[in-house]
Amino acid sequence: MYHIDVAIADGLLSLAGHQDVLYTNREGCALGEIYFRLYPNAAGGSVEVSSLTVDGNEVEWVHEHDALDLRVALVAPLYPGAAIEIGMDFVVTIPPAPTERYGLFSSSSGVLSLDEAFPSVPVYDAGGWHLDPVQPFGDVAVYDASFYVVRVSAPRDVALVGTGVEVARDDDGSRQVRTFAAGPARNFYLAAADDLVTVEKRVGETTIRSIAFADDFPAAERVLTFAKEALASFSERFCRYPYTELDLVANPILPGGNAMEYPGAIVLSRPLYDPRAVIWGSVPAPAALEWDVVHEIAHQWFFNLVGNDQVNEPWIDEAMAQYAVGLYYEDAYGSRGTRTAHDWWLGNWSRVGREETAIGLPVAAYEASSYSPIVYGRGPFFLAELEDALGRAAFADFLEDYVSAFAWEIATTAAFRALAEEHCGCDLGSYFEAWVYP
Ligand SMILES: [Zn+2]
Repeated sequence: MYHIDVAIADGLLSLAGHQDVLYTNREGCALGEIYFRLYPNAAGGSVEVSSLTVDGNEVEWVHEHDALDLRVALVAPLYPGAAIEIGMDFVVTIPPAPTERYGLFSSSSGVLSLDEAFPSVPVYDAGGWHLDPVQPFGDVAVYDASFYVVRVSAPRDVALVGTGVEVARDDDGSRQVRTFAAGPARNFYLAAADDLVTVEKRVGETTIRSIAFADDFPAAERVLTFAKEALASFSERFCRYPYTELDLVANPILPGGNAMEYPGAIVLSRPLYDPRAVIWGSVPAPAALEWDVVHEIAHQWFFNLVGNDQVNEPWIDEAMAQYAVGLYYEDAYGSRGTRTAHDWWLGNWSRVGREETAIGLPVAAYEASSYSPIVYGRGPFFLAELEDALGRAAFADFLEDYVSAFAWEIATTAAFRALAEEHCGCDLGSYFEAWVYP
């Protein structure tokens, strides 16, 4: 549980804050230390911690791995089921131009994008603390699901968009104060920008908000339509979308056809909204926009609800998100849609000549040029092959069961295979050998 209180400075280039993290040991062994990941230190900015307390007592800490990680040695072991509260003051500096990680942690063109900006406790499991180095591509976040209450003070003239729902607002002179509550969620994303306009639509109990530049409005309305259809399709096929809000926000810093998923929030690069733009060399932006919106919405189930180690087993969420896009296209356009989705996967895979590299490798094991073709291009064909092996109805049952079995937990390749084999009553070893394992 994170209680975060931050003030974003005028100019949107730094923030100062305090957080209290209530951490419960949900593992089977006692813990002698707690880690925090300080991603801004590896993303062209910085985070400086200036005081740290454990259950109210001041403690020392050390930086490791070029200050990407902060280690707190505990005075007494934290036993399974026990909880401690860690408090810290911190100052975050944000790079004024996009540097690492697609520019999702930067402040330029009037947009502040806070990707992985706050000190966060990584996953601890049988392999120890997850302290992987940051790769230049792929995702960095591997977190347990948690709850967030985040109070943000910011210049009054910017729109704030964040994970979760706004539960309180207060305006005080030139400043605004907004409080967001979110959870369970794998992390907390926040963006601040001037010039953005919102359209929204309610679907059942969920409000979908499309937040974009005023000039991009026809496309912003289309984003709402795609999001509504995707939420309906995936809610029907997997389980109900877990939140009352979904925000899709345009970002002028992200290059080309890029987009990124956060719990209850999705960031889409601005070129996707330009009806005349061409994305990925040959795809008209309106088609890429639909694909990206649906792919990132699929991550609300595969990444956020069902967590996984996105650094070491990225196929579990990325190949699944791509496969789910195929299900959406089938629901929206019938067999023509299925063919469209297969053509997209194949087009991507063909960029490496359809080489049969395993889809189940860590991000770091792929070349930058083969990561997407293999994991996003070849990956969904593995799931389509499993669907053929199990039969359509049995595979659909398996997916529903998989989502409910691992909701707010962390799935692994081994657990995925075991559950699929339980569903078919068969040995799927040859499929995993052919597609997933190195
Ligand atoms: Zn993805």
